[in-house]
Amino acid sequence: MTEMEPVIGLEIHAQLKTRTKLFCTCPIDPGAEPNTLICEICSGQPGALPRMNGKALELAAKAGLAMGCRVNERSLFSRKNYFYPDLPNGFQTSQIDPPICEGGSLDIQGPDGPRTIRLNRIHLEDDAGKCVHDPRRGRTLVDLNRAGTPLIEIVTEPDLGSSAEAMEFLRKLHALLVRLEVTEGRMEEGEFRCDVNISLRPRGETRLGVRGEIKNLNSFRYVGQAIEYEIKRQAGLYAAGRPVLQETLHFDPDRHETRTLRSKEEAHDYRYFPQPDLPPVMVAPGLLEELRASLPAPAEETAARLRGQGLRDEAIALLMDRKGAVEYFDRAAAIYDGPGRIGALMAELLLPACQRDGVPVQSSALGPGGLARLAELLDQGVLGRRAAQELFGELFETGADPGELARERGLLQISDRGALSELAAEVVASHPGEVGKYLGGQEKILGFLVGQVMRRSRGAADPKGAGEALVAAMAGLGRQGGDGDGN
Ligand code: ADP
Ligand code: MG
Ligand code: ZN
Repeated sequence: MTEMEPVIGLEIHAQLKTRTKLFCTCPIDPGAEPNTLICEICSGQPGALPRMNGKALELAAKAGLAMGCRVNERSLFSRKNYFYPDLPNGFQTSQIDPPICEGGSLDIQGPDGPRTIRLNRIHLEDDAGKCVHDPRRGRTLVDLNRAGTPLIEIVTEPDLGSSAEAMEFLRKLHALLVRLEVTEGRMEEGEFRCDVNISLRPRGETRLGVRGEIKNLNSFRYVGQAIEYEIKRQAGLYAAGRPVLQETLHFDPDRHETRTLRSKEEAHDYRYFPQPDLPPVMVAPGLLEELRASLPAPAEETAARLRGQGLRDEAIALLMDRKGAVEYFDRAAAIYDGPGRIGALMAELLLPACQRDGVPVQSSALGPGGLARLAELLDQGVLGRRAAQELFGELFETGADPGELARERGLLQISDRGALSELAAEVVASHPGEVGKYLGGQEKILGFLVGQVMRRSRGAADPKGAGEALVAAMAGLGRQGGDGDGN
């Protein structure tokens, strides 16, 4: 049998990070009471006239510039006609030709090596409202708060060859758009969701096969599962000599399978009409310059820089995935020149704590200055790792000074040589039996003696320094003993 290869193209919807809707000034807030954030425009009253939100245009253009798209100076809105109860206009306002951005690409590191995934286009459109099913009372309610929320749809060329590549592409795109502050990207809220188009063809064939389109996936994991399932389903049809039909599918995450929603033939003719209520969208060249200048360094450059500063790959990935984390890192590293330690503290303690409490990194009570100080205390050996972990919860909550808090809690390590020698001498004097065993060759007993130094210092001694001080103290004894014997 000929080997079949999967061909995948994605359509990603990202909710733009604007305060208000795309064509009216209603605020956007997913937590508001149903139908409290609506007006005559976003609720589709006849005769109401839309007005374009300039910020949405800026964000769409910014996303395009970051991925090397051509940003059209002039693009147009069309009406894409549907009937849905949560679409009061009877059409979605979208862009067909020309859209705001065309072309461009995103490079990914796939499991089969680096790949360049080409983009077909990015266009602006508005979101629909929501149907809320109330099974208890057997009815469906419509909430229009979301209607008119600005989205960009990013359409790729069919350049992805596996579920792993598709997931990697989505992760990278998500991280980029969040970093650019184009979207908040909260996937559980549906702010970043995607449709997956997938077909099979004999390996080596250049024409595309018939595709299935799986709608509205809002987690990377579901995208992977849906693709795997759909590849098997289509391969089964081909193997049985049955045709694959072009259809729109729904993925059921509980049953891990795709189901037909509708066949594309019936639904395809949306009848795009030009939208006469909106003038062409114009992008001033000045705006593009300004946006280009505001773009952060490409992710590869930032990653390479962080690697050069001695951060480990896991820490780099974490920092780059969290909004504001690289900026926080840079500020801390400017205060204390210990980037490796700072990166590790962020990856191991700070970012997990922020994640757990839902606190954005930039507004953590423990600011870059505090974290820098903590890193410094660790590097100086004044504070141990265990003690740092113990203090961290309180530092994170209160933003207290790490040095002061450690002193209050008696957690500062004694690494001062004189103090350690004194403690070691006391322990040696009060444990002649153990000391004898050590000198007789039982080196393991040193651990016990270090423990005694730690006890005497109530945990404040630096264990490594304590060990050295003990060895030095006992070496002196050994020599004395030797001399005595010889006399
Ligand atoms: P539509 O808007 O009707 O879904 P498009 O032609 O705009 O169709 O394509 C949407 C997405 O589907 C794009 O990402 C494109 O790369 C992808 N695509 C188109 N044809 C195929 C195919 N045969 N197999 C896999 N992906 C495809
Ligand atoms: Mg589609
Ligand atoms: Zn409105």
